[in-house]
Amino acid sequence: RGWDTTADDVLAAIENARNTPLPDGKPLTVSEPTGTSVTVKNPATGETVGTVLEADEATVARAFDDAAIWDAPPSERAAVLRKAADLYEENYGVLFALLAKEAGKTIADAIGEVREAVDFLRYYAREGENTVRGPRGIIAAISPWNFPLAIFTGQISAALMAGNAVLCKPAEQTQMIAHKAVELLHEAGVPRSALQLLTGDGPTVGAALTADKRVSGAVFTGSIDTAKLIEKSIAENLAPGTPLIAETGGLNAMIVDSTALPEQAVRDIVASAFQSAGQRCSALRCLYIQEDTADHLIKMIKGAMDELAVGDPWLFSTDVGPVIDAEARDGIAAYLKEKSGSILHQLKTPETGTFIAPTMLKVNGIDDLEREIFGPVLHVATYKARDLEKVVETVNARGYGLTFGLHTRIDDRVQAVSESIHVGNIYVNRNQIGAVVGSQPFGGEGLSGTGPKAGGPHYLPRFLTPASGQDGGEDWS
Ligand code: NAD
Repeated sequence: RGWDTTADDVLAAIENARNTPLPDGKPLTVSEPTGTSVTVKNPATGETVGTVLEADEATVARAFDDAAIWDAPPSERAAVLRKAADLYEENYGVLFALLAKEAGKTIADAIGEVREAVDFLRYYAREGENTVRGPRGIIAAISPWNFPLAIFTGQISAALMAGNAVLCKPAEQTQMIAHKAVELLHEAGVPRSALQLLTGDGPTVGAALTADKRVSGAVFTGSIDTAKLIEKSIAENLAPGTPLIAETGGLNAMIVDSTALPEQAVRDIVASAFQSAGQRCSALRCLYIQEDTADHLIKMIKGAMDELAVGDPWLFSTDVGPVIDAEARDGIAAYLKEKSGSILHQLKTPETGTFIAPTMLKVNGIDDLEREIFGPVLHVATYKARDLEKVVETVNARGYGLTFGLHTRIDDRVQAVSESIHVGNIYVNRNQIGAVVGSQPFGGEGLSGTGPKAGGPHYLPRFLTPASGQDGGEDWS
């Protein structure tokens, strides 16, 4: 299988994928889809990657008519998901190519993403294979572009493993990736009536999916604004108590005190803020450095930023690729222009493509961040030793609760901060990125998410009929 191959094989597969035309995307529905064709551009180069047929409302309505729960024993569903995991691995070349060309992912990020998607398939297969509870019915699954394979696969594999009929809608920016993933799932044996792909835009397809009375539950990952729209639509249109799992954005902070090991802290700060061009929901947005060591640490961060290679995602040497599209680039660029007086350090960007230069900005604290800036922008504040608790209170008061980082050598401080900070994921003396399916489940609190955490034991049960006739209960955590 793919992962047993040598580095030379991987290089050859990537080169081959680079030169192979990519499959076009379209809705994969039981009935023939109708809609509008759109052109997909590579964010790094502006080159045309392919075309995607975006579904119209009639296609969504037909998909509801055709949807049927996956009526097979759990052991059989598990075997099919495991087969899909094998197919993802065998097709890693085309998946890397799609991730790089459609989403601008670096090869390192693409490797991690395929791995995570495969882990989700195998993890939920194992979690669900002995279940005795039945499915809820039809699940609407709506996903973002920033983990277009991993989050997309995680949502649908849990819902499918529970036996539901899934109608999934990927983000507009990453529909070709979703198309390939669903093709592989169908090839593995998932019935078409149990898994239909609805490529299309949010206001048309997403809205239609979350307003149809036949929906028994919804799972969403994306921005807070969209989550609110979906919550409202569910409350207005669907049966009372229809469950919604929503994972949204954050304003993630990190504290580095004066006992932290500077080299380690700097490495982790730079990775947390700039890896994936800052387009991770877990990414570090606001760094608090203890005043005594701030000058030194900021100098070191500047030095480490200068080592980052920004550019072509196809090169193994690239650390930071483009942001997802021109709209994202222009929005972040306008923000940086507005804040130009506070820039502490900024790299140069390639002249073509949708790049944003990794940037470090000075702020007084997290309250200066009006919103989540979804790109390679690090905000830095300093704090006095005696104000550490106040920093934690201020971060809590913003109401987001996704990730939090702490660099310190004081064990009692680790204990105290971990107990008082309200977030889903805390990272101590390490970088603030990522989740590990099965061992480090991921999800936010407060404005950042409803729970349960993805890749953890409480996630899949949310897609089953409730154990006690009551929704929620032990499955919410
Ligand atoms: P987005 O909210 O713009 O889009 C997400 C999805 O919602 C897309 O598929 C979009 O088409 C769809 N959508 C848009 N309008 C809709 C509507 N009216 N009804 C139904 N669906 C609609 O988010 P994005 O820009 O794709 O993703 C980035 C955001 O996702 C960031 O805020 C990031 O922090 C967040 N995110 C969170 C997590 C997490 O686990 N907490 C993980 C990844 C990304």
